[in-house]
Amino acid sequence: PFQPDDVNSAVWEKIKDHPCYSEEAHHYFARMHVAVAPACNIQCHYCNRKFDCANESRPGVVSEKLAPDQALRKVIAVANEVPQLSVLGIAGPGDACYDWRKTKETCERVAKEIPDIKLCISTNGLALAEHVDELAEMNVDHVTITINMVDPEIGAKIYPWIFHDHRRYTGIEAAKILHKRQMLGLEMLTERGILTKINSVMIPGVNDEHLIEVNKWVKERGAFLHNVMPLISDPAHGTHYGLTGQRGPRAIELKALRNSLEGGPRLMRHCRQCRADAVGLLGEDRGREFTLDQVPGEIT
Ligand code: SF4
Ligand code: SF4
Repeated sequence: PFQPDDVNSAVWEKIKDHPCYSEEAHHYFARMHVAVAPACNIQCHYCNRKFDCANESRPGVVSEKLAPDQALRKVIAVANEVPQLSVLGIAGPGDACYDWRKTKETCERVAKEIPDIKLCISTNGLALAEHVDELAEMNVDHVTITINMVDPEIGAKIYPWIFHDHRRYTGIEAAKILHKRQMLGLEMLTERGILTKINSVMIPGVNDEHLIEVNKWVKERGAFLHNVMPLISDPAHGTHYGLTGQRGPRAIELKALRNSLEGGPRLMRHCRQCRADAVGLLGEDRGREFTLDQVPGEIT
């Protein structure tokens, strides 16, 4: 595939076979997620803890939770069957940076067996800054941070509480801490040349117009991609309507917002909001072919 004029060769090396960072690559390269990180340190109003982290996934999805050694078995099985596999992502089902021990062990064990696989992490950003140096040492080239606000007053409407430094914070105080930690984590990743994708969940009447401001802040701090995702309201699954029955945006509203963000970081328009155990090309999910009972046995 051709190299766009606006990225240098070091960046191109990182994105050329990552299906989420390069729209071109998503036709040819596959990613897989392993659901090794169930714990989470914040509460988003749109999340129901019974399901996968809604910051990266669709509602109503429950992934098969794995221990790091089980994840390794699964990655090896997929790598043997899916030649296009280029990226291993950890996107929950909770928060990859908060459930750090399992995330780190999984990345290290997989990198040892499959050294050329790219590692990708998704986080809400609260526990990110304290792990950035380790992420760099682990050769994690790609981090997704979900940033839904830069104004704590708006944040208080999205996050009822956070758990930070051994205690729980609520309201504006919680949103202030989350905002500071997200910005610090993003700046630290940019300094180390780790590419970042910012996910923002568009919640009509809460942060829709505000996402223009979010886009400016993340652009100033070096974000590579901005992915505005619609809130998916799905009462049938008992999820995504914690914001008092909040509806999701209409397609035309989402399109208008995305158009108004042109000129900031590149916009991702091919996101499929895949599950925390997705396998395959974006838009295809072969996860059910690789459940634990179907992949070859124990590895020690
Ligand atoms: Fe749920 Fe993800 Fe928010 Fe945690 S960060 S509360 S798992 S949506
Ligand atoms: Fe990484 Fe997110 Fe793409 Fe998964 S969906 S590979 S976590 S950017």
